[in-house]
Amino acid sequence: MLSREQQLQYLEAMGIQAWTVRRVDHGTGTEQEPLPPEDPMVAVPVANTTTPVVPVPDVFNGADVADLDWSALEARVSECRLCDLHTSRTQTVFGVGNHNADWLVIGEAPGHDEDQQGEPFVGRAGQLLNAMLQAVGLQRDQVYIANILKCRPPNNRDPKPEEVACCEPYLLRQIELIQPRLILAVGRIAAQNLLNTQTPIGKLRGEVHQFRDTGIQLIATYHPAYLLRSPLEKRKSWQDLQLALRTLREQDG
Ligand code: URA
Repeated sequence: MLSREQQLQYLEAMGIQAWTVRRVDHGTGTEQEPLPPEDPMVAVPVANTTTPVVPVPDVFNGADVADLDWSALEARVSECRLCDLHTSRTQTVFGVGNHNADWLVIGEAPGHDEDQQGEPFVGRAGQLLNAMLQAVGLQRDQVYIANILKCRPPNNRDPKPEEVACCEPYLLRQIELIQPRLILAVGRIAAQNLLNTQTPIGKLRGEVHQFRDTGIQLIATYHPAYLLRSPLEKRKSWQDLQLALRTLREQDG
């Protein structure tokens, strides 16, 4: 486990000084000692949000990928034309990382940099994601990183439901191949689609969910691109990552 000092070093690398809460004596206006670090043993509510697996409609049989291994799956994705996004993409963005990872990080969709480079989370948001992972002692190549969509939506617009539906079999097959111990859903789009809900991300985060009927535990947190715009929310993402660590520890028994 990381010492508090190591944690603080990583947090500083993430630009998360804001996570050390300042206390002001409102009588004198002077600054007090920061609060002690959060107790890692605090009890965590476990949400009961299990949802049944939605059967894949016939229209998606074009993406029948149930028997594909990693290389066949990646090849299938690279030639996918199931939705209109294939007309505007530079290339598909399959996913990257450890095929035996405990942690599967799932984001929304490739942006401009990812579309150019063919790898998820390589832009500014990706750098923050890397720092967030490092804050809990994980190198990027220890986890697996994928997105709800494998192709960039034009102008980074939200994915359309039919695009998500076309792409879902690929992600489900990746999950099946990896068998992660934990899914970290980053951002509203990832969390809502994985949990089949319209509940806002602010309500989905901070709890342990189940990923459909797989028994895989899922934790939702804010998207790093949102954190870049709203740095004060980094504290909540830090809490979510600590929750993820505790969840894995509890799995170990
Ligand atoms: N945002 C995402 O959700 N995924 C990426 O790969 C890059 C940015």
